[in-house]
Amino acid sequence: MTSSGGPVVLPPVPFNDLSRGVARDLDALQAVAAGIVAGGWYVHGPEHAAFEAEFAKEIGTTHCIGVASGTDALELAVRSVAKGRSGPVVVAANAGGYATVAARRAGREVRFADTDQLTLCLSAKTVEPVLDGAAAVVTTHLYGRVPDLRPLVQLCRQHGVPLVEDCAQAAGAGDHGGLAGSLADVGTFSFYPTKNLAALGDGGAVTTSDDELADRVRRLRQYGWGAKYTVLEDGGVNSRLDEIQAAMLRRRLPLVHEENARRREVIGAYAEAAEGGPVRVLPAVGPWHSGHLAVCLTPRRTAVREAMSAAGISTEVHYPVPDHRQPAWASAYRDVQLPVTEQTSEMVLSLPCFPDLTDEEIGRVCGVLSRVDRP
Ligand SMILES: *Cc1c(COP(=O)(O)O)cnc(C)c1O
Repeated sequence: MTSSGGPVVLPPVPFNDLSRGVARDLDALQAVAAGIVAGGWYVHGPEHAAFEAEFAKEIGTTHCIGVASGTDALELAVRSVAKGRSGPVVVAANAGGYATVAARRAGREVRFADTDQLTLCLSAKTVEPVLDGAAAVVTTHLYGRVPDLRPLVQLCRQHGVPLVEDCAQAAGAGDHGGLAGSLADVGTFSFYPTKNLAALGDGGAVTTSDDELADRVRRLRQYGWGAKYTVLEDGGVNSRLDEIQAAMLRRRLPLVHEENARRREVIGAYAEAAEGGPVRVLPAVGPWHSGHLAVCLTPRRTAVREAMSAAGISTEVHYPVPDHRQPAWASAYRDVQLPVTEQTSEMVLSLPCFPDLTDEEIGRVCGVLSRVDRP
């Protein structure tokens, strides 16, 4: 392949490359970590307290509660909002299974709602038919898109059912009217290394302006303790955000909006290149989209993936199997049909999208998009 006279082999375009973002800021990140290593306070110290305050301020809520992962954040949020309520938790089935895992860990049955054809998120229209008797609803801002949440918030309020926003993919999305995580009863975040606000390990947070709810989550994240060694809340876990991760997040929080804008720029370039062809890139325009993932819809996914792969470009599918068809859960949902969820799961394809993708790499993806399947 590489012998002289052979084809020119371009370097691969990775789906993501976390080392680039770290390299940009390596000395500072290492200095921050070294300070904590030497400092002797590793969990729930000053960095953690400062991050909670800064993140709450950024999102526009009274409280931020740091936890160990996005899944923990979802579980504790569901446990807290659904306390004293019976019934299942309503979730989307197209969002990677996280909310289903979390609701089941919280001891709840799950009831699936279909998603809106345009946003691929839950909407008042898709939730209303399954809302009766629910203990809570979790809506996921899929791929970073935050749809107009007001109709869903209103519907849930009318029925007295609490609403959780899963913002794991939508950190920083929103505008002066409020960011994702402040729009419903409670918001949950993941700081997994590939997310828009990323730690160098696991992390998560719960945001809310409800004092009682915040107290409950704070107790649940640490064994159910009110004060030390006094268990006030049943169902507690150990889910803490450590000092090093909190410090990494503090350093990166001020960059989120700029990086989200770059992600949207990448997606915009793909959308333009795909125009008029058989691949439809889901738009990521304006502040209500974090640009987390560049996802396109195509009835010929295998062929498009192969064309990308032949050009050295990595792609992924988010997500190939809807929750109600997952092997471990399917038997309970045999009669459930979610036409939009099922149909789009066979058409979605994610293209490389991260802030440090180079213009040359973006151009190569665009090249394939503009050629694919055209005469
Ligand atoms: C990543 C993700 C989660 C889970 O976060 P972890 O930190 O990996 O537990 C939950 N929901 C969505 C939508 C995600 O993308």
